[in-house]
Amino acid sequence: MCHDNARGGLNVTLLEKADNVGSVWRRHYDRLHLHTDRKHSGLPGMGMPRSYPLYPSREQLIEYLESYAARFDIRPVFNSTVSCIRRDGSQWRAETARGSINAPVMVVATGIADAPYRPSWPGSEIYQGLVVHSSEYRNPAPYAGKRVLVVGFGNSGGEIALDLATAGVDVALAVRGPVQILPRDLLGFPILAWAILYRRLPARLVDVINAPILRLAIGPIEKLGLRRAAKGPRQMVEEDGRVPLIDVGTLDKIRDGSIRICGGIDRLTPDGVVLADAECKKFDAIILATGFRPDLRQLIADVEGVFDRHGMPLVTGQATQAPGLYFCGQITSPTGQLREIAIEARRIAGLAKGYPGK
Ligand SMILES: Cc1cc2nc3c(=O)[nH]c(=O)nc-3n(C[C@H](O)[C@H](O)[C@H](O)COP(=O)(O)OP(=O)(O)OC[C@H]3O[C@@H](n4cnc5c(N)ncnc54)[C@H](O)[C@@H]3O)c2cc1C
Repeated sequence: MCHDNARGGLNVTLLEKADNVGSVWRRHYDRLHLHTDRKHSGLPGMGMPRSYPLYPSREQLIEYLESYAARFDIRPVFNSTVSCIRRDGSQWRAETARGSINAPVMVVATGIADAPYRPSWPGSEIYQGLVVHSSEYRNPAPYAGKRVLVVGFGNSGGEIALDLATAGVDVALAVRGPVQILPRDLLGFPILAWAILYRRLPARLVDVINAPILRLAIGPIEKLGLRRAAKGPRQMVEEDGRVPLIDVGTLDKIRDGSIRICGGIDRLTPDGVVLADAECKKFDAIILATGFRPDLRQLIADVEGVFDRHGMPLVTGQATQAPGLYFCGQITSPTGQLREIAIEARRIAGLAKGYPGK
């Protein structure tokens, strides 16, 4: 996008590889609603409409993003995939198939959705069923009458299994290790509101304080074939970047047997899997709800002290080791990703305004 931002006084060009606003949310599965509440998921300067429910739908988020762009006259330069970002004298250069653009300040807000992580197991090449990543899943219709294994107990895995079970599909969830589960609401408030309330306390302390009430709210999960992680939910996000499952009905379906829990996968066979406990199970389709692993070193060349060993930025929403280079919302936040993006965006705008040569 290319526009004069009257509010910030900055001349901003926004390069977007898709041809519409909110392209990633358009691709998410049909039944998705925000897991974070409306009041804490808005972007700077314009909250989500009060007419929206507490947990807006995917369609409502897209509508919100469209009206946000219209309200602030944000006009992305669509169909502009940035293939490489590199230093060019005192500026940064972003290269696209249609040419390059130089700017003193470069903000990378490419999200995570372009890097689905697809693990492979011995036997992957002989398995004859369908294997799809959660980012390709839309709704249960193609899976009617099939035996489906969903791999991974994150939010996508939990909700896709729920979606399938609700539609009467025979579904199992492969859960490799110990897990953490949070209710979406606790004592009448969104769980995110509690996380925000406790945000300044150390993770370990927050987890200790919350443990008894969360145990009560979630109930015993060991009976369901799940193991509770020793690390509390907040520590899990901060230390491992793993978001606990926010339960929107998955546990009920596990309790009533419509979602079966099984262990991790050892290997694939032509018509199913062998689990870690050596049990063989047949599945017509495997849905990999195994998350995303973006490696930004492929996009940004020749910078030092900016990335961790996985190619994720060491810091987001603040100055990096490379002058004028910023990342927005690239590290998982315990207090909601959209909320974090809004905070970081404001901060980056402030830093960019004060940046020499902007
Ligand atoms: C299934 C799912 C549910 C989620 N639910 C929530 C929730 O309830 N609450 C919450 O706070 N967060 C949620 N998140 C996290 C969510 O991804 C973020 O909150 C938010 O969408 C991230 O916004 P973003 O702009 O950083 O990234 P994205 O929405 O992923 O947007 C990145 C944009 O960059 C573009 N792009 C990427 N690479 C390039 C390139 N090389 N050149 C040009 N353009 C490029 C993409 O086309 C895309 O438009 C969810 C994530 C997933 C996957």
